Amino acid sequence: MKKINFGKFALLAIFALGFASCESNEENNDSSQEQSSITDEIYNAKSTGDLIDAVYQGKIVQLLEIENNKYLYDGDVVLERNDFLLPDEVATNKGVYDGGTWPNRTVRWKFASGVSQSLKDKWASATNTWKNELGFTFTQITTTSGDYILVQQNSDGSAYSTSIGRKGGQQIISVDPNSFSTGNVIHEIGHAVGLIHEQKRPDRDTYITVNYSNIRPNWRSQYDKCSGCTSNGTFDFNSIMLYGARASSSVVYNTSIPAMTKKNGSTWNAQRSYLSSGDKAAINAKY
Ligand SMILES: [Zn+2]
Repeated sequence: MKKINFGKFALLAIFALGFASCESNEENNDSSQEQSSITDEIYNAKSTGDLIDAVYQGKIVQLLEIENNKYLYDGDVVLERNDFLLPDEVATNKGVYDGGTWPNRTVRWKFASGVSQSLKDKWASATNTWKNELGFTFTQITTTSGDYILVQQNSDGSAYSTSIGRKGGQQIISVDPNSFSTGNVIHEIGHAVGLIHEQKRPDRDTYITVNYSNIRPNWRSQYDKCSGCTSNGTFDFNSIMLYGARASSSVVYNTSIPAMTKKNGSTWNAQRSYLSSGDKAAINAKY
């Protein structure tokens, strides 16, 4: 029961990993088509461009160009141009590969201006979960020096992180508190400390089937395996980093057909309440 995390070191390797985006969707049970109330995290792009090949943390990935010179990786990880390399830039810029851990599990952070009490409360609750369950320390800072997470509020229905792991300098977690819960914030902190989506683990084909034919082209790569990342244990259907089996109409052509199923054809709901045993094991393996 564990999970995937990005390794600390980037190998120059040429892992052909595809993918990009994350979630959006809802999930539900086998027997019913009703939507659950859980909202998976997503960056709500106002416009999208092409999928491009890029090298992020030493792995070849696909990024979806979105507005304002931003690049969507795995659905709720929003990168900027200097966060990754294009394939032909790799030889001269190796430093970008480091998907860092936070020393001593200590995460420095501050609120951006305009953060509501609602989001402040969710942030406090989410960080308490990481503190109580995994011994992380969250240190609120007042400067903008060193490495830190800037916690931002948005009002466009997005929840996203700008890095997998510690990026170095400022990185952002942005959440619309009207659309997302404390559990979604726990999920975004998961990205910021190094976790990626459970359905991308290299051994996932043993546990699930991805119905690519029902997934819209721009979203397919978010369901691809990450051959360059580390996973341990077995697939964890309780992971807070796992998408629900069903997805919204922006992701799939037919919402009555799941994006993913278990091998016996059944589906599952996304879990956005707690860190699972696999989530915790993955962090303990990484840190
Ligand atoms: Zn995510």
